[in-house]
Amino acid sequence: MNPGIISNPGIATVSYIIATILFILALGGLSHQETARRGNWYGIIGMAVALAATVLGFVTAQYALLVGALVVGGAIGLWAARRVQMTQMPELVAILHSLVGLAAVAVGFANFMDPGRLEHYLGVELTIHDIETYLGILIGAVTFSGSVIAFGKLSGRIGGKPLILPARHWLNLLLLLAAIAYGYLFVAQSPQGGGLVPLLIMTGVALLFGIHMVMAIGGADMPVVVSMLNSYSGWAASATGFMLDNDLLIVTGALVGSSGAILSYIMCRAMNRRFLAVIAGGFGTSEGTQVAGGEDQGEVFPIDAEETALLLDAAKEVMIIPGYGMAVAQAQHIVHELTQALRDKGVNVRFGIHPVAGRMPGHMNVLLAEAKVPYDIVFEMDEINDDFPEVDVSIVIGANDIVNPSALEEPEGPIGGMPVLECWKGKTTIVLKRSMATGYAGVQNPLFFKDNTRMLFGDAKESLDAVFKAL
Ligand code: NDP
Repeated sequence: MNPGIISNPGIATVSYIIATILFILALGGLSHQETARRGNWYGIIGMAVALAATVLGFVTAQYALLVGALVVGGAIGLWAARRVQMTQMPELVAILHSLVGLAAVAVGFANFMDPGRLEHYLGVELTIHDIETYLGILIGAVTFSGSVIAFGKLSGRIGGKPLILPARHWLNLLLLLAAIAYGYLFVAQSPQGGGLVPLLIMTGVALLFGIHMVMAIGGADMPVVVSMLNSYSGWAASATGFMLDNDLLIVTGALVGSSGAILSYIMCRAMNRRFLAVIAGGFGTSEGTQVAGGEDQGEVFPIDAEETALLLDAAKEVMIIPGYGMAVAQAQHIVHELTQALRDKGVNVRFGIHPVAGRMPGHMNVLLAEAKVPYDIVFEMDEINDDFPEVDVSIVIGANDIVNPSALEEPEGPIGGMPVLECWKGKTTIVLKRSMATGYAGVQNPLFFKDNTRMLFGDAKESLDAVFKAL
């Protein structure tokens, strides 16, 4: 590769190594709340170093175009980051994944159409290069279309119900075989200057596969899809790195790819699902046992803010269970104030966080950290699930699926088998939500009808404001 403005290639290489180390430190930092902020800074600095090293060390022409693209791209990124609501974060992440996929497809085609390709690479090298290009476009196209559908599902533009086509496994197999067959044709035709047609057909096949794969996955299993697409976007970036002979992109992509894969595994374990079963789709239907229906479950017992305050005032042990509704209501700050007030009164307040609460991995932790809730009272589900019998009051703030007993009682239901926070084992549970509407998985929640459950209806922030005042 020709040297860019910095003519010494050693400087660029060292910068790449520094950026790689910073990215690894960033991942390490992001794995704990206490160090997440620092981790973010490592990532930001690493990306700045990587960008500077690439622009100054490797780019040799078209600077005006590059600067123009950086300014336009940077401005769009800044605008999106400022404008996006916390509740829209998961959709933003999904659409950003789709852009990584699209970039891999674009780089793949640009690489294929590069007139110098057949002069630079000969024999086996050309075959390897072609396979890299083919795989890069394949992974990129699946990531792109899958992420666009995930964006639609997370933003509610596409319904959460899985699309179950007849013989869908055969269809997937057919698409896979088609991708392999066209790959063979592509590699065979490429040395003679051909291969565009099989490449285009495969791109179409991969786009269809991405759409079908995510459409077939039910609402309750979306967390696994989000982390899986995160992983795919890493592999797409890695494939782009191979196509561009860029070591940093290969390593960074592999870091994202493997951390996304680990996250998918963690999500599957948290939901008691097998990864392959999720990918094959079909969960989230009410095909099996009839899912608990809404109306005939009995009576609910509403409660008001004053009574809630009285219960909290008398409690010794309080467990707060936040869910997606807390993000919608932006209630995290009042949650913090209420926590502070209760702790000042000597109440032991803890938070129980379900791994799939909200709409993206770590969603609740981010909100609680933003509101400056102390880390040492925030616990993972596994750490506190056995403690509920000692809890006086559990406050469920805009959560639904993650506290649904039918997950344990109806193994065939959409969320069947998923471990949930067993708050009903405590003395009293107060559920804050606006109506009797179901959660993301579309399953009615028998918790609301239990004798020791009270419903505090209304927007979570407004309800908590009132409870705080009464307290
Ligand atoms: P749910 O979506 O199950 O429930 C959220 C509840 O919040 C709703 O029932 C809603 O009821 C209530 N709510 C909404 N807005 C407000 C408001 N302003 N004030 C008070 N309540 C409100 O959320 P959970 O967190 O319990 O579960 C997460 C679900 O999302 C799981 O099914 C999970 O699989 C899925 N998911 C998770 C992802 C992740 O990575 N974490 C990604 C994709 C999906 P009402 O309308 O009556 O107010």
